[in-house]
Amino acid sequence: MFRYRNEELAKQILEKLKDLNLNLRLMHVCGTHQDTLVRFGLNSMLKEAGIEVRPGPGCPVCVTTAKEIEEAILLARKEKVVATFGDMFRVPGERLSLADVKAEGFDVRVVYSITDCISLAEKTNKDVVFFSIGFETTTPATASVISTRPTNFSILSAHRLIPPAMEALIRMGEMKIDGFINPGHVSTIIGERPYEFISKRYKMPQVIAGFEPLDVLIAVYMLAMQIIRGEAKVENEYKRVVRPEGNEKAQQTMAEVFEPFDCSWRGFPVIPSSGLRLKKKFEKYDARRRYEDELSALDNEYKEPEGCRCGEILRGLVYPDECPLFGKVCTPRHPVGPCMVSREGSCNIMLRYGES
Ligand code: SF4
Repeated sequence: MFRYRNEELAKQILEKLKDLNLNLRLMHVCGTHQDTLVRFGLNSMLKEAGIEVRPGPGCPVCVTTAKEIEEAILLARKEKVVATFGDMFRVPGERLSLADVKAEGFDVRVVYSITDCISLAEKTNKDVVFFSIGFETTTPATASVISTRPTNFSILSAHRLIPPAMEALIRMGEMKIDGFINPGHVSTIIGERPYEFISKRYKMPQVIAGFEPLDVLIAVYMLAMQIIRGEAKVENEYKRVVRPEGNEKAQQTMAEVFEPFDCSWRGFPVIPSSGLRLKKKFEKYDARRRYEDELSALDNEYKEPEGCRCGEILRGLVYPDECPLFGKVCTPRHPVGPCMVSREGSCNIMLRYGES
């Protein structure tokens, strides 16, 4: 790992980038990349070299919509046991979070994995709902335990796919993007191929990158080289972990259980084929089908919290300190929006390290 934290080499790459005299805007779609860029001060050093790297919709907690959170809240209030991950527990829906609902006396649990949740269901007669979030990285784990689920267990899926969101960013055309740094974790599962249409259709350079400072700098350099040469292809900087074909077993497990559907993301309009729902043969485990009547009471549209700019942050349009609530009204202790709750959220990262 420390090979990838070599300060001397980092300086050399930055000098080379400076010499290229570029003016580029790149985007990544991964909360861990944002952490690396900010924690190691790479963003400001890259800016000096004429390269801006903006965060996109790379935090699964942050892109979960207020409507999905309201669904989980409603099910908790209808006497189901609702379990989810720690970050999701604290994100407000339109007004309240699952943590608030727990404080009202309803049964909401924080779990570390879906298997914890299944154990919970085995120990109770009550209906247990797992509010399941994550990109391609975590979906195979959810899919892999489908056959071992007890009958009082179901999934409220908020799983999503990254490549359709990258395409949506390009198609929306709200700002120029010269290239993408692609997420290492997601790519471990999906490999290189699912990104290729983006390069072909939109002439967009892409490089899959790891999470150490040198990984990110090398990926930026590889993108700069593609741009100078007028190329647009998918390259892989993270070959020590990501295979071109990805993890085929995980892909198979995911495809057996889930199917894509058109899905809203926080801050985005509906993105075609970007969400994952359980296939019909697993419908008895799908909380949306199982509790369809109860959930039909919900509105279709929920507003973002007043003043919160998470939607624009997730589209890469503004930085966290451009939100008037940042660090004043909205803090990790009292978060207004999801980007302040999750440690992968841009607002949380900026407040922790003091820069964007
Ligand atoms: S600082 Fe808080 S309110 Fe503002 S965009 Fe970030 S999470 Fe939303």
